[in-house]
Amino acid sequence: MNFSSKLLENAVSEFGKLPGIGQKTALRLVLHLLNQDDKDVERFTESLTLLKNNIKFCRKCHHLSDADYCEICSSTKRNQKLICVVEDSRDVMAIENTQQYNGLYHVLNGLISPMDGVGPADLTINHLVQRVNEEEVDEVIFALSATMEGDTTLFYLHKKLQNPGVKISTLARGIAFGGEIEYADELTLGRSITTRVPYENTLNR
Ligand SMILES: [Zn+2]
Repeated sequence: MNFSSKLLENAVSEFGKLPGIGQKTALRLVLHLLNQDDKDVERFTESLTLLKNNIKFCRKCHHLSDADYCEICSSTKRNQKLICVVEDSRDVMAIENTQQYNGLYHVLNGLISPMDGVGPADLTINHLVQRVNEEEVDEVIFALSATMEGDTTLFYLHKKLQNPGVKISTLARGIAFGGEIEYADELTLGRSITTRVPYENTLNR
């Protein structure tokens, strides 16, 4: 694209680095912002700076949070004996939207992927094992994507979490988690949480 201004080109280039934003869309967004009041643009940039500088990861579940502990972990109304294991914070938000789950979460911050050089040590797996051993946990529910990475992670965690008295279950597959979870409709996702199955059952198939 031919730009008349280096300033414009820089801004478009930055927006173009965002996932799913091509050059044309980037230019449209930049021109849109350029037409806004100074105050609006200030609020826009300030919200990003504040977010980047101040957002935390919950010390218990690693979900994005404004405080040391997220609202879910801090709530006395949640079932503390249930932990739902997900790939990232987007999955927490999607499952919360279904209003079908009342337990806690554990955000792995990714999946085991030898091809991409992501091993168990790069994820929050050790902390999950620690939580299951130290907290009073009845059930760990895996809500991971039905991909090779999801299956590898599930299998690894299942072996790590051999703890009598702790049920291991997984959501009915066919739901795309992580990355595509925003496209999964709430009804289907909600139903797959309430009809979750013991992990062992899925291995024997
Ligand atoms: Zn939390």
